[in-house]
Amino acid sequence: MNLKTQISNTIKKYKICNKHEKVLVALSGGKDSTVCAYMLHKLGYNLEGFHINLGLGAYSERCEKSTKELCTQLEIKLYVYDFTKKHGSSMCYLRTTIQSKKALKNCAICGVIKKYIINKEARILKADKIATGHHLDDEAQTFFLNILKGAPELSASTGPLTRNISDKKFIPRIKPLFFCFEEDIKNFAKQKKLPVVYEPCPCALDSYRLQVRNFFKTLSTKEKKNIINNFDKIKDKIKKQSGKMNYCKICGEPTRKKICKRCELIKN
Ligand code: AMP
Ligand code: ZN
Repeated sequence: MNLKTQISNTIKKYKICNKHEKVLVALSGGKDSTVCAYMLHKLGYNLEGFHINLGLGAYSERCEKSTKELCTQLEIKLYVYDFTKKHGSSMCYLRTTIQSKKALKNCAICGVIKKYIINKEARILKADKIATGHHLDDEAQTFFLNILKGAPELSASTGPLTRNISDKKFIPRIKPLFFCFEEDIKNFAKQKKLPVVYEPCPCALDSYRLQVRNFFKTLSTKEKKNIINNFDKIKDKIKKQSGKMNYCKICGEPTRKKICKRCELIKN
């Protein structure tokens, strides 16, 4: 099955979005979110792009340039969120400050802050859905990591459409590439010569995930697909996190706890 049919089937089977909705694609400048936007556009969905320039020097400038080129090619609107201008420091600086108080991995901190910004800005832009470039390899790795951590419930609401959260302040997240292999996405981006930054983020230094990623390189596509299929089978049996949402006592954003993950990180 080709990539376009695979994505179209996922969208229909899981009813992740429809053509009347405004889908905001979170564009990193990398191959996955670029292919995600390209395909959704080709399939006729109503798209806008959203990019966070994290202020990581020349790397971030290249990422912003790629997202601009893509959105010009697709003739879709692009919103660029300049992290340094909004926060007075780069993502790198904020992360280091957090790490001076809390022993957390780079990607874990960056991931929480990015998710927070994307949800808040998507709401301001009145988007119905947020699309990200997560693919089968990402999802299988995350599921596997959560099992190694002894916390499979962290994967319970994962899927092509983020389940189990209903709150007017929370914009549902969709993953149209959920069943696509990373290798196929990369080949497609190269074949179409899409504007993509192929180098990894200079701050992605999570050794544990890298270890799992290296292990995954030894698995066949069939084995990786088996992980996702098994996950699909047992998903409903995993104890879900409560669907009830509160509003963060500090910033007012939706959270399952009293204080959201982002405020928990940046408070003293
Ligand atoms: P990552 O956590 O870096 O693997 O990224 C996962 C997904 O988050 C990507 O496929 C994008 O959809 C989105 N994303 C990552 N970085 C950015 C960024 N700087 N701006 C907007 N979206 C991003
Ligand atoms: Zn908060």
